[in-house]
Amino acid sequence: MPELPEVETIRRQLDAVLPGARIVAAGAHPSAKFATATTAKGAAIDAVRRRGKYLLVDLDDGRELIVHLGMTGAFSIATGSEHGGPGPYTRAWWELDDGRTVVFDDTRRFGRIAVVDAGDYRSLPTLHDLGPEPFDPVFTPKVLWEALRSTRRRLKTQLLSQRPVAGVGNIYADEAFWSAQVHPARRTLTLPQAERLHAGIVEALRQGLDGGGTTLRDYRGVDGSRGENQFRLACYGRRGLPCHRCEAPLEAAVWDGRTTTFCHRCQGPTPRR
Ligand SMILES: [Zn+2]
Repeated sequence: MPELPEVETIRRQLDAVLPGARIVAAGAHPSAKFATATTAKGAAIDAVRRRGKYLLVDLDDGRELIVHLGMTGAFSIATGSEHGGPGPYTRAWWELDDGRTVVFDDTRRFGRIAVVDAGDYRSLPTLHDLGPEPFDPVFTPKVLWEALRSTRRRLKTQLLSQRPVAGVGNIYADEAFWSAQVHPARRTLTLPQAERLHAGIVEALRQGLDGGGTTLRDYRGVDGSRGENQFRLACYGRRGLPCHRCEAPLEAAVWDGRTTTFCHRCQGPTPRR
């Protein structure tokens, strides 16, 4: 699933080419998850922003077009009729006044599109309750510590809720816990552990962003290019391979429905519950 580095990479690519264009026609899959995409017709695009894993497209009529990529959502831009355009997995498309068509494909259909009044996220609870951006100065180790110790959930499960910090999913969470030497199935943590985890989160996301995102299977940039970060992962997906720090084989287990890879030696013993 695309996480902050992948969504931010796509945001930069869209924001470089879309502002100023006006949407003159639009179509969408009839599912309620996508259908409102057509209501953006008539508006011009001012900017493409991001919050967590959400793309926020500012329209010039006081509304926002919001896109969550789900697991397999991808954007492409078709020019004229030579190539591209709506296909069998297209869930929404927007034709622009300069002849280009912005296409949103999503084979698995876990994505979501909504058009809302600017800043009104009540129909999107995860976005509405999103924690701070990881690169924002308000996201401090203390803030992370408070957000994680205020629940009895497993630390990783709480991190993935998007409330302690926005934009971290399974890949970057495993990387961050490994880097911090904190066991992801713990339910408590000390302030020094929170300080290391904070550094691990910021570092993992920054490395992902520098690599243009992580392409395990589906993720592509707007131009179809793959990310490079999959070659730099230290923990995620490396079950059975030696830990880069202590050489013990990494282990994997499922907690709260999510597969987690970790080092039993340098991240500490697995909690009993
Ligand atoms: Zn280790």
